[in-house]
Amino acid sequence: MSMLSRRDWGARPPKDAYTTLNRTKGVKIHYTGDHVDPALAREHAKCVATVKAIQDHHMDGNGWIDIGYSLVVCPHRTIFQGRGAGHLPAANGAGLNSDHYAILGLVGTSGLTQPPDDLLLGILDAIDYLREHGGAGKEIKGHRDGYSTDCPGEALYTWITSGTPRPTSDDSR
Ligand SMILES: [Zn+2]
Ligand SMILES: [Zn+2]
Repeated sequence: MSMLSRRDWGARPPKDAYTTLNRTKGVKIHYTGDHVDPALAREHAKCVATVKAIQDHHMDGNGWIDIGYSLVVCPHRTIFQGRGAGHLPAANGAGLNSDHYAILGLVGTSGLTQPPDDLLLGILDAIDYLREHGGAGKEIKGHRDGYSTDCPGEALYTWITSGTPRPTSDDSR
């Protein structure tokens, strides 16, 4: 599992203390809801810049204490620590954050829309991590489950409703 600490990716510190979360029913998966530059799939530095821009938007635009996601996964099977395990996320929508951790997969509405196998493997890694360290339960859902949004897009949502099959290119076993 490849994990970037907040220090590793240059995260800003949260503006206030997190709310503790001991266990959840599971996770909800998100996409950016925006254009994602296809060059990101070839250049990991663009992933880092994108995650930092999302954090800025959530803190300065939405007025949240931090990036809204628990974890972010990029197309290079790398996990970025967001609010992390054991902390209430903000991205699922009001009233919907204590039941599920929030995982962002770095694909969007245009540009990079199809999740590469390594992104899916990274999401599976992130789920394992939240189960081990954050008391996440078995549920794997999309943002649109219980909230009016297109998120996480058709490609990720089809993968979720198919039972999140492990991509066959997985060479880590
Ligand atoms: Zn979402
Ligand atoms: Zn990357």
